[in-house]
Amino acid sequence: MSNKFDVIVIGAGPGGYVAAIRAAQLGLKTACVEKWSSETGKVVLGGTCLNVGCIPSKALLESSHKYEEAKHDLDIHGISADKVDIDVKTMLERKDGIVKNLTGGVAMLFKANGVTSIHGTGKLLAGKQVEVTDAKGDVVTYEADNIIIATGSKPVEIPPAPLTEGYIVDSTGALEFDEVPKRVGVIGAGVIGLELGSVWARLGSEVTVLEAQDTFLSVVDQQIAKEALKQFKKQGLDIKLKAMVTGTEIKRGLVNVSYKDGKGNQELKVDKLIVGVGRSPVTEGLLSADSEINLDERGFIFVDDRCQTAVPGIYAIGDVVRGPMLAHKASEEGVMVAERIAGHKPQVNYDCIPGVIYTHPELAWVGKNEEELKADGIDFNVGVAPFAASGRAMAANTTAGMVKILADSETDRVLGVHIIGAGASELIAQAVIAMEFGSSAEDLGLTMFAHPTLSESMHEAALAVNGNAIHVANRKRRK
Ligand code: FAD
Ligand code: AMP
Repeated sequence: MSNKFDVIVIGAGPGGYVAAIRAAQLGLKTACVEKWSSETGKVVLGGTCLNVGCIPSKALLESSHKYEEAKHDLDIHGISADKVDIDVKTMLERKDGIVKNLTGGVAMLFKANGVTSIHGTGKLLAGKQVEVTDAKGDVVTYEADNIIIATGSKPVEIPPAPLTEGYIVDSTGALEFDEVPKRVGVIGAGVIGLELGSVWARLGSEVTVLEAQDTFLSVVDQQIAKEALKQFKKQGLDIKLKAMVTGTEIKRGLVNVSYKDGKGNQELKVDKLIVGVGRSPVTEGLLSADSEINLDERGFIFVDDRCQTAVPGIYAIGDVVRGPMLAHKASEEGVMVAERIAGHKPQVNYDCIPGVIYTHPELAWVGKNEEELKADGIDFNVGVAPFAASGRAMAANTTAGMVKILADSETDRVLGVHIIGAGASELIAQAVIAMEFGSSAEDLGLTMFAHPTLSESMHEAALAVNGNAIHVANRKRRK
């Protein structure tokens, strides 16, 4: 094998593997370096997302949702299920099977598209060289005209709660409990903490979430966040805000968690503690001293809006650079960079990145929220359609939540869409498309939606922006 490539990608997560496949599709001789090894020593492709992130968490969220529905939500339909049991082992095996399928699929795509897979830890040297060290310690140096760094992120660890096998775990450990713990503590009411907390709460654990901030989901539109807090509390998640974890101790098979809240020092005893306080970029050992790649003040690789680093021909994408840590954002950046290397001129629209929290109800949003628009001094109109007014939501017994649309009061252009409700992760795609096409609220209102669907709430919210809704309250007077 020649050691010279057109493109070398470091990291095979949703950023890196997608970039590598797209580059190869465009006729570029491409290699992808990945350090992750299976128990049998084989390379593991797919990164955080496929192995320990998006996919396994969604598998467990689906399983636990089905259990909860079978246990609590069938009566209303006149269905009784007397004996609903959980077999955690089968649940985890199903999850692992899905992961295996998908990661094996990436290996097949590499083969089909002619991407050379290199197993080892990559280090960027000066002169666009990548030194790869394999599990045995053997070192090979490769060269490329273009290098894409896609080394992703890892869970943040905090001194008061050091990971302790069997007791204090990060998000990866929280996907592997082999039985349902009686009591689970979660540090951090972010996306990961809420999703994983929900999984174990649905399966029967008493879950307490400790969050240092006094605002719940501060990045989310606060009308939506308030509704979410209400729903999660109703489900039995004990969410404590302004609760800063200060220490932990393992005693008699339990984790004693110390935290400080508005009233002083508090204690919580749990069987398992999940640390979900965010993720940090992976750059240790990645850059040689003379690589000339800069990091920003938070440790992310510094790039421009085309993912170009300070060195021409060296790019960085995904969780290792600024922006939301999301798989689809990483993949879109991967495609953009591969296509730019091939001479095309694509761009990523950073104003149109959907965010989702896969709880029940789900939260999903795109664009600006009410607080951001106010801070920016932009005048806007609001249309809100509660799912309580939707026939389809009633039929499905999922009437919690709403669709909220914010549109510029002068131009009517849609500036943000915020949803809480069942199926929000799918509904948000309509809003992303509308915003990508520069839609006005009126355009959405003039579009026909099938009846009865949850999507009709998008239609009603769009109509409500300009006071024309039929089934829900209009904030503006009808013209
Ligand atoms: P990663 O997926 O982290 O991949 C980086 C790869 O690079 C890894 O395979 C790593 O082994 C490899 N690597 C690192 N350093 C080197 C090196 N020096 N040499 C060789 N290889 C190297 N996002 C969503 O969009 N939706 C979700 O539902 C979602 N759920 C999540 C749930 C959980 C529990 C977690 C933890 C994350 C979730 N995310 C979700 C976030 C998502 O996983 C990340 O945003 C995404 O994986 C980032 O992709 P990436 O390619 O940048 O990095
Ligand atoms: P995210 O970055 O979205 O995954 O969210 C992580 C959350 O963890 C943030 O809301 C932080 O405020 C919270 N957090 C970080 N450190 C602590 C701590 N010591 N105690 C409680 N919450 C914390």
